[in-house]
Amino acid sequence: MYIIIMLLDKNIVKLSNFNGRSFQPSIDNGLSNHHLKDFWDGSYFDEEFFITSDNTKLVPTHPKSILNRINDPDMGPVWSMNPYHSCENGCVYCYARIAHKYLGDYAGHNFDKSILYKSNAVELLEHKLKSNSWKGEKIIISGNTDCYQPAEHKLKITRRLLEVCLKYNQPVVIVTKNALVCRDIDILKKMAVKGLVEVCMSITTLDEDLRRALEPRTSSSKNKLKVIRTLSEHGILVSVLLAPIIPGLNSDEIFKICEAVSNAGASFLNHTLLRLNGTTALLFENWIHKTFPFKASRILHQIAEAQGGSLNKDDSSNRRNKSSALGQTIHQQVRLAKNKYQLNKPRRNVTPLKLGIKQTPQLNLF
Ligand code: SF4
Repeated sequence: MYIIIMLLDKNIVKLSNFNGRSFQPSIDNGLSNHHLKDFWDGSYFDEEFFITSDNTKLVPTHPKSILNRINDPDMGPVWSMNPYHSCENGCVYCYARIAHKYLGDYAGHNFDKSILYKSNAVELLEHKLKSNSWKGEKIIISGNTDCYQPAEHKLKITRRLLEVCLKYNQPVVIVTKNALVCRDIDILKKMAVKGLVEVCMSITTLDEDLRRALEPRTSSSKNKLKVIRTLSEHGILVSVLLAPIIPGLNSDEIFKICEAVSNAGASFLNHTLLRLNGTTALLFENWIHKTFPFKASRILHQIAEAQGGSLNKDDSSNRRNKSSALGQTIHQQVRLAKNKYQLNKPRRNVTPLKLGIKQTPQLNLF
């Protein structure tokens, strides 16, 4: 009986892929009918957009600033830079979905089909880095959405932002789930020599069926490991974000993932537990009942337990929840796996990031 259920689950995982998109309904956000032309801060987006060959709508926006100050529960106050408002990777659990509703769009399938990008990002960044008030603090690229999502192939905004960072010796941490980061290895190598860059590869699972169902447009697990190996071999500091750990779905892969990324050359690993905020909880619930109907209830129950009793948590400090027994068990497993596979600190000879040191641009580099 168990084997039959497993087979059925696998089939349903395959069926759930809808032309490589996450299979998400358009749950009403409450703001969806507004289709805001102007953002709350006076920024605006164009009426004109273009459609890519695989039917993704790319919409240019014109924000007023490119850096946001965020208070990360793991890193403390940091600057975050996101070239894209939405994300074509379409991960079902994505906490950035909820922000999409403030753009007057649905947090469901529109989140990965209607990509709003910051057309003036490069100019805004250069203006900021040149200003006397800027102190050169570390910037996290992709604090919210993936800077190497498929649209970046065409738009190359992240590449041009990195060129500016290199020019001004600006330290950055890049977080991504896409192998496209290797396209920019020429810039990353120059930044690594100066200790200006860390690439954080975000990995959720090594099971390809599960990855395709959970995060359909991210790179395959095999390619993510290849990225870690390639960047490491070129002297670029690589870490891993094992995220999100979803109790009952990928929580049994902790040791396997730690072993694989360590063998590939990753220096250290962080993790977060799944956090379902606002509308995302509704979308996830809908998805898991369609995708894993036979174990959906059990998984949802475990997620709620790990989150302290509720499925829907808006509190980001819960991401590494140690207050529940299940949260503590998972955290302990990660700690043991990190010790076993030496993922606690940089093992390679890489200069630390030059935090807080503003440097003059090297104009002769380009
Ligand atoms: S890659 Fe990150 S930002 Fe993009 S959909 Fe997935 S979780 Fe969200």
